[in-house]
Amino acid sequence: MKNVIVLISIFILFSCTRVAEKQGVPAKSANSTDAKIEKAFISFRIGVPLWISETRCNELFDLFDKYKGVTNEITFFTSETHPPLPLEVIKERTVILKERMVQARKRGYKTGINILATIGHHNENLENSLKGDYTPMTNIEGAICNGSFCPNDKQMQEYIRNIYQLTAQANPDYIWIDDDIRFGHMPIGLGCFCDNCLNIFGKETGIKYTRESLKKAFNEGLSEEKLKIREAWLQHNRNTISHLFELIEKTVHDINPTMPLGFMTGDRFFEGYDFDNWAKVLSGPNHVSVMWRPGGGYYEDSNTNSLVGKSHDIGRQISVLPQEVVSIQSEIENFPYQRLKKAANSVVLEACSHIAAGCTGAAFNVLSMYSEPLDEYEPLVAKLQEARPFFDLLAKSLGRSPIIGIQTFWNKSSYITGNLQSGNWINSGNPLVGHDIYNIGLPICYSNQCASVTILGKDNVLGLSKEEIRKLLSGGVYMDAEALQQLNDMGFGELTGFEVEGSENKDRIEKFTDHPLNGGFVGRERDNRQSFWNSPAYTLRKTDQQAQTLTSLIDYSGKEVFPCTTGIFENKLGGRICVAGYYPWTFMENLSKSSQMKAVFRWLSEDSLPGYIASFQKINLWIREPQNGKTALAFTNSSFDPAKDVVLMLKTDQKTIRIYDMNCKETVIRSSGQDGPYQKFIIPEVGSWQMRLAINE
Ligand SMILES: [Zn+2]
Repeated sequence: MKNVIVLISIFILFSCTRVAEKQGVPAKSANSTDAKIEKAFISFRIGVPLWISETRCNELFDLFDKYKGVTNEITFFTSETHPPLPLEVIKERTVILKERMVQARKRGYKTGINILATIGHHNENLENSLKGDYTPMTNIEGAICNGSFCPNDKQMQEYIRNIYQLTAQANPDYIWIDDDIRFGHMPIGLGCFCDNCLNIFGKETGIKYTRESLKKAFNEGLSEEKLKIREAWLQHNRNTISHLFELIEKTVHDINPTMPLGFMTGDRFFEGYDFDNWAKVLSGPNHVSVMWRPGGGYYEDSNTNSLVGKSHDIGRQISVLPQEVVSIQSEIENFPYQRLKKAANSVVLEACSHIAAGCTGAAFNVLSMYSEPLDEYEPLVAKLQEARPFFDLLAKSLGRSPIIGIQTFWNKSSYITGNLQSGNWINSGNPLVGHDIYNIGLPICYSNQCASVTILGKDNVLGLSKEEIRKLLSGGVYMDAEALQQLNDMGFGELTGFEVEGSENKDRIEKFTDHPLNGGFVGRERDNRQSFWNSPAYTLRKTDQQAQTLTSLIDYSGKEVFPCTTGIFENKLGGRICVAGYYPWTFMENLSKSSQMKAVFRWLSEDSLPGYIASFQKINLWIREPQNGKTALAFTNSSFDPAKDVVLMLKTDQKTIRIYDMNCKETVIRSSGQDGPYQKFIIPEVGSWQMRLAINE
């Protein structure tokens, strides 16, 4: 697989931390930074109806003044609907915005403009949006989106140059580019496969494709060939965005050479996740500072798990950013801004959770989208002001230090392996397995470089070279049976210790064997009712006598039907492997399974895991790489029940930690014992849906 050469650089530093720790050297990754952050970067994004009338805008400023400190930056949207606007409208609005920004500055705020639509998001309000001879965003079937346009279209580039000129001339302190710069637009899905884009791709690859022949090349033929053309398409997408950013950077910096540009992203697998390079392009030849706004979908709080899900998406986005990017404001998005949809407490926790996952601040898009009095929003603004000291404390304590722990494997090219055996690549979706495993107090991290254990799901390894896979298997790996099968098929059986014997789609229960990692839970059962939540139960056969069984499979009569469904193995490279054949990604939330998982991950890491929550609670945990001898970490009690006597096991020699609650109240806690390299700290109580910051010094 020659196409994966681009990935190698990502892997060069893989598992440095783990190797360093094995050798007793203090871990220090290349990502460590000395950038000092004194307080959080906080902004509010303001919709057109709240600023276009001067009276309304002054009411908004008065509200911010009343709750002094709630924000440092006021960012004005150019539009309230999502396709690009006619140039004339942008012209009129930037003239008004120039005045509004003068007023905002007089009141002590930094202020700038958020261009909501550069190429456009989707079909909406088309009658009042940009019309003309512009190539619409086009999917691989040839369907088009009239609210979004191809960034490779010369006419469109001229329009973009014009709107960025007008915006820069309004003299903002900064300009934000929104997340319409992507390839996924309603109602067509992924683009852009217009004729011009296909021509460009032809020049990049030396092969001329039609939409039909390209689709065939993505989906048919030898896997190696498919991977190669898919990787070439991701690179094409990276290039398209990079070229667009060159245009924007030059346009803006020709007018104001020091104006910072900010970009909003999501989990951009199909775009090739080239954030580090795009950040460099936006910074320009003069190295102007660049801001970032990582985002995801969490519009209301009825699904509580989505909050941390968004934090994980955000953490992954940040892990790619260069250290020079310091202002990283999570998108906090309450669209359509109906106050009862998301509690003020949820908004506060969301900002904290995203800071724990790597942000240094938050951009609140939480106020009304109408021209109306803001009375109903005032309690939210008051709550955010109250929480501000904790946002600052988190940002200052965690800074840009790398997050270390367990990584669910991904890289910039992870998208290429979707539906590789059959089906349509374009629609293959997010290439990662679920993140429920992190809800039981295991520490997540988001990059290979910082991982002490790697989680592998189906297809993850298909885009990797043999050398990269050997490197992975020489460390700690937790995988499902499908990944095992793929590794064995690729010739790595000697390093995995198991093979898949078969699978059962119903009536199987996992039963804990008499193995030390099962602790006091020998004989316990885990029944995930395949008749309700269907997932095959895989039977595993040991291929090496050193392999050991953690769980067997029984049926509903209690009779053993196969001796192994989960097992561990230490291979000749020193790599430690766990293969989980029974619901490897879900249903970890009972005492026996969560305890087993903590023991397994600690074993996989050879005690290089930076810490974990040993008590039985629903807790999300982010631990930072120690900086100057200090370890900082944050965790959330992600439950409606208070968590009593939370047991934090932290890999450290120091015997004291300072814990801060969300009111910044400090409690000093001394270690109540040691287990191997881990000190045990017992935190008496953490309220429901509350975060704690801990600093060890
Ligand atoms: Zn195009």
